[in-house]
Amino acid sequence: MSEKTGLLERLSKGVVLGAEGYVFELERRGYIKAGPFVPEVVLDYPEAVKQLHREFLLAGSEVMVALTYYGDREKLKVVGREGELESLNRQAVRLAREVAAEGNALVAGNIANTWVYDHHDKEATSKKVRQIYTEQVQWAVDEGADFIIAETLEYLGEGLLALEVIKKFGLPAMITFGSILDFVREGVNYVEACKTLASEGADIVGLNCSRGPETMLPLLRDIRQAVSCYVAAQPVPYHTTPEQAAFQHLRLPGRERAFPIALEPFLCDRFEMADFARQAQEIGVNYIGICCGAGPHHVRAMAEALGRTTPASRYSPDLALHPMIGSDVKDKDREFLKHWKD
Ligand SMILES: [Zn+2]
Repeated sequence: MSEKTGLLERLSKGVVLGAEGYVFELERRGYIKAGPFVPEVVLDYPEAVKQLHREFLLAGSEVMVALTYYGDREKLKVVGREGELESLNRQAVRLAREVAAEGNALVAGNIANTWVYDHHDKEATSKKVRQIYTEQVQWAVDEGADFIIAETLEYLGEGLLALEVIKKFGLPAMITFGSILDFVREGVNYVEACKTLASEGADIVGLNCSRGPETMLPLLRDIRQAVSCYVAAQPVPYHTTPEQAAFQHLRLPGRERAFPIALEPFLCDRFEMADFARQAQEIGVNYIGICCGAGPHHVRAMAEALGRTTPASRYSPDLALHPMIGSDVKDKDREFLKHWKD
């Protein structure tokens, strides 16, 4: 294809910055139905998908992740669009590829937890999951994906199936767990689960979604020490706590569940995500990104925290130029300004 540097070569030289959370952000913008969270927007409003890709690209993301999350045959049945399975998957990768070409970014194909796998019915459900992953990865490869991200997995068994399928196509495999609880569904902790994936040949292992920076970082330290392959971390930008370690557990003051559409009170600001990027780099995380809840302002702050200047850095804050809180407040505004302060 082009002389574009591949993922593994980029990782060997330093941190690769990614960005995700497409489903959440496009739901917020009115293009995806919360609940099923099927990315119908790929077919219905492809320009909206390209626009978000572009915003993340300008903010410094080096990877355009095709929006095929929950775009599998079982999920499309839920919204009555299983007949459009192949066109959605192919179109999603094309959209990612078109925008990636605007900035030398990589294209990731994307598969996720299927809600089909069951370790108590391993043989029958593995067959179905293998079919789901194989067709999605095949379409991603056909359309030019550079590597595949399998994510928000809660079963080690499903992770191993994803790895098996991706490796069959000869692409780098990034496999990350969702970490809603402290263990995968088989009862093994995430460190052990990542070790197993690494020993089976995963190029990158780690965590994405569910946990915010505070509750993901301790697990990342342990995973980093346990494996010698690359480690990925894409937390959600929310204030999760040791008591409510994943955003699925966060409760509003009235005790209602905040997940998934009332999470705003818990949102991290750009400075907190910049701190996360720095800390993740310090402990040796190789692929640093962000998941559900992400906005381009988070991504740009993370890129700049890693010492980078992005196209969107041209518009990075310069509050010294603000007429009221800046460095050059006019005399006529000083009296008014007194009322801004305590
Ligand atoms: Zn997410």
